[in-house]
Amino acid sequence: MSQTETAAVAEATDAAAEAVALADGEASLARAQQRSRQIERQIVQDPSQFRLLTGDRPTGLLHVGHYFGSIVNRIRLQEAGVPTIILIADYQVITDRDGVGPIAQRVMDMVADYLAAGIDPERSTIFTHSAIPALNQLLLPFLSLVTDAELRRNPTVKAELEATGDRPMSGLLLTYPVHQAADILFCKANVVPVGKDQLPHIELTRVIARRFDERYGRSDPSRPVFPQADALLAERAVTILGLDGTKMSKSKGNVIELAMDADTTARLIRKAVTDSDRHIAYDPVNRPAVSNLVNLAALATDRQPEAVAEEIGSAGAGALKRLVIEALNERLRPHRQRRAELVADPGHLRAILAEGNAKANAIADQTLAEVRQAMRMVY
Ligand code: ATP
Ligand code: MG
Repeated sequence: MSQTETAAVAEATDAAAEAVALADGEASLARAQQRSRQIERQIVQDPSQFRLLTGDRPTGLLHVGHYFGSIVNRIRLQEAGVPTIILIADYQVITDRDGVGPIAQRVMDMVADYLAAGIDPERSTIFTHSAIPALNQLLLPFLSLVTDAELRRNPTVKAELEATGDRPMSGLLLTYPVHQAADILFCKANVVPVGKDQLPHIELTRVIARRFDERYGRSDPSRPVFPQADALLAERAVTILGLDGTKMSKSKGNVIELAMDADTTARLIRKAVTDSDRHIAYDPVNRPAVSNLVNLAALATDRQPEAVAEEIGSAGAGALKRLVIEALNERLRPHRQRRAELVADPGHLRAILAEGNAKANAIADQTLAEVRQAMRMVY
């Protein structure tokens, strides 16, 4: 074969491999969607059969993207009776950064936002990664169960790496999916609300759980040490764009923070990008910036975006922005009021976190004891 022929064959093989991966991806997405609908039905019948793990990295203040994209859903599941564990992933801040920033302040701000949004510490456990030694110790056996090739082809690791530009990948970033597996498995969570881009992580968590039990499992295979966790995909995924028309993100400076006051919110929304078409329509594909504003007003008032767009009609972007400002400020008013009360009492916030950490430590100690028992490391 000539060099060009070899190259053509290699290209065709790559394309075929990609097509297979795409088809695999679609099949697993369809499976995850179906399983998510089933879980939602099972939650209505008996929420106590589930344990949900979710969390955020304290890389900045929570914003309206977090609020509508995940916090509202967490509150819904908590209210439905699902035992919920919320991780403030402080160690994961340094997967792609050189320093931790004003971490203590950010952690406390995060606790304040959770509580203000309606997370109830009686029913949900809020904890920080760094305070749970037994959780972190799970990383050692778990890392032995995956290969570096498996980690290198993880799409989220690839995406995170791209987002950090030319920065060389740290060992911590490469092993990020294993930390997530430890976060999920330390508390034997069986439901993890995620976006579809996170499905490969959940799959790796299932693989790690399976491999652990294959290698070290208890004599009774019907009682595995770890459950098989499922992703819980939202029926309608919400992505909020920032003021510049790209995904709202802490690190992009395009956010409306939950902690901002009404005037700042108004000022920022007035500056948000729109387009030149005066007629307002909900068309996320062709008019993402305008549709995002329509969607924000809709989410803030529990209406459908189409109805909001119709109401504005040809009144233009100015009228749309006035509506968004009013709707968002109105929706966030009780949150902001509670938040202000909470941050005025840092002792209370610290006590809530200490209580959450104590609960998480008790769970992690128990799981690590089972792990060491399974590995016959009890001396
Ligand atoms: P960073 O800039 O540090 O990546 P971020 O603002 O993008 O921070 P993440 O910590 O990456 O926030 O996001 C945590 C979770 O919050 C996401 O998995 C997603 O569920 C939700 N989320 C974040 N941003 C948005 C958004 N713009 N729209 C909808 N959901 C969002
Ligand atoms: Mg992000």
